[in-house]
Amino acid sequence: MIACNECRRLREHCSEVARVRRRAYIEWEYWGRPVPSFGDEEARVLALGLAPGAHGSNRTGRPFTGDGSGDFLYPVLHEAGFASQPNSVSRDDGMRLKDLWISAVVRCAPPGNKPSPEEQRRCAHWLDEEIPLLRNLRVVVCLGRIAFDGLMAYEQRTGRLNSRSGFVFGHGAEYALPDGLMLIASYHPSLQNTNTGKLTKAMFLNVFKRARTLASLE
Ligand code: SF4
Repeated sequence: MIACNECRRLREHCSEVARVRRRAYIEWEYWGRPVPSFGDEEARVLALGLAPGAHGSNRTGRPFTGDGSGDFLYPVLHEAGFASQPNSVSRDDGMRLKDLWISAVVRCAPPGNKPSPEEQRRCAHWLDEEIPLLRNLRVVVCLGRIAFDGLMAYEQRTGRLNSRSGFVFGHGAEYALPDGLMLIASYHPSLQNTNTGKLTKAMFLNVFKRARTLASLE
């Protein structure tokens, strides 16, 4: 997957961001490639995000690592018992996840954090290959509307769901899917949401505590 080159626009953007870099990270050698998922292969919970951040995981090579979204997410995962430490700064910072796998519907950083619908469809086959490998999976936490739509599309594409009628995105919304998976929707931990108080730490922690309960982890 890290050698995938199917989306020319996204690949060029990631490479350009990695070449120019942000002043604060001028000493970094950016990852600049599709970002692989991260976590516990035996996980019962999947956290599904949107796409890598240009100067976050496109820089560090690990989901939600090295940017504001990750600074909000990992302390919550640590408090909820999924992450070994609250700080996530680089691929070799010692972070371990337990019972959690983190992935995204698009694997390359898009300009303006906005992948096109076509790019979302093109990247979907990676998710199609990955989800069945998570053999203990019980709960999917969809981080944001695009991740929610991406999971719905996966369920329909793979014949598990006939119609998404009645499945409406909203923070804290829960659905039992026909294949036995539980879905929890959450606002995305973007700075836009966390800086404005649309998503608070307490709200986010409740989502992951609920995921533990639904996954029978307590
Ligand atoms: S977004 Fe997905 S499909 Fe497109 S180049 Fe990146 S990994 Fe490949």
